[in-house]
Amino acid sequence: MNEYDSNRILDLTKKINYTPTDKLHEADCYILNTCHIREKATDKVYHDIGRVKKEFRNKSKPIVLIAGCVAQAEGDFLLNKEKYIDAVIGPQSYHQINDTISKLEKKLNPINITEFDVIEKFDNLNTIKNTDNKISSFLTIQEGCDKFCKFCVVPYTRGAEYSRSIDELIIEANQLVENGAREINLLGQNVNAYNFEGKKLSNLIQEISKIKNLKRIRYTTSHPVDFTDDLIEAHKNCKKLMPLIHLPVQSGSNRILEAMNRKHTIEEYLEIVKKLIKVKPDIKFSSDFIIGYPGETYEDFQRTVDLMTKIGFINSFSFIFSARPGTPAFKLDRINKKDAKDRLVKFQRVAEDIKTNYRINLINKTVSVLFENRMKSGKRYFGRDEHFNSVIVESENDLTGKLMNVKILKGNQNTLFGKISSMINLTNYAA
Ligand code: SF4
Repeated sequence: MNEYDSNRILDLTKKINYTPTDKLHEADCYILNTCHIREKATDKVYHDIGRVKKEFRNKSKPIVLIAGCVAQAEGDFLLNKEKYIDAVIGPQSYHQINDTISKLEKKLNPINITEFDVIEKFDNLNTIKNTDNKISSFLTIQEGCDKFCKFCVVPYTRGAEYSRSIDELIIEANQLVENGAREINLLGQNVNAYNFEGKKLSNLIQEISKIKNLKRIRYTTSHPVDFTDDLIEAHKNCKKLMPLIHLPVQSGSNRILEAMNRKHTIEEYLEIVKKLIKVKPDIKFSSDFIIGYPGETYEDFQRTVDLMTKIGFINSFSFIFSARPGTPAFKLDRINKKDAKDRLVKFQRVAEDIKTNYRINLINKTVSVLFENRMKSGKRYFGRDEHFNSVIVESENDLTGKLMNVKILKGNQNTLFGKISSMINLTNYAA
């Protein structure tokens, strides 16, 4: 979502004649869009500010603005501690960025803008064309969260659940496709909680899939509680919807899920997986895991490992519990650090073995790949298959934006390498 927000910040600041530069020393204004999901987020801000200070030593400093969730959660603290920062601006207030920059150009005092103006934000953004021109583009459809998992900062930094209207989303999706997008990844902190005047994510997917030149739709991140049958049916009916679902589970133990306030059980999670496989047998899953949550016993942890093995997640993001200030879990007694670390190592080994086996099985298989860009080195093109695996092929022809069948020849943990076998008949991709 920060990538989407950063692109929209660029669209906004163009209005006041700012353009992006990749040469730090040329910047008149430096905007750091931050994430607060794990520990050390604030340290990273200071580290980055240090880099800017070094670059501008003996020169007049650029306007320095901290955007995103660190600004939301720790704005006053940042402004007090680091005088080099001119303004902090929260994720629901960045439509005010041009005013803020204009004030700072006039050398006003440090500014803190961290209200939850989500309606005003999108009203404002809707008046500005989305100029992102990537083959695979992001589109924020929903923001915020009402779930209040005990470890998570999102409800405090992004605010309550809010869904954008279908009409404005169709307009923006069309803009992205006109700019060249062939895949749209619908974003939301709780993307499947999307609900605009009774229209759900499945309705939105159906509408977006009618855009002619759009070939693929993805969405992330889902919550099991909102995984309703209509969304499962969408995977059966919409050929443009890709068969990889990122469905965070966090733990394989019902006891820990309850302690986390995740609002579902493992049995309910497995039921969703079962239904999805029934309607779409080639569907795959990825997930997020917190290892060593306060109170996690070895038996709880072993249940998480068992779940990983049972579902065979083809990708996973696992971290030791990170206590975030302001969340209920912050005050809980943590488990022994070494135990948590040992468990993470064990878990990641199991996850890597599953991933490796899955990838070995892909060798000599043919997958459909949407190519996103030519790589810097040689005539190599980068794309992704339906399950979001990175695929690289060599080609004399420009493959950017093309959907091709690729035979996989080899792979490593991160990338598959293959050769083109044929172009895909796009009629197969009708909604
Ligand atoms: S559902 Fe997701 S975003 Fe919401 S509180 Fe839980 S982990 Fe955070």
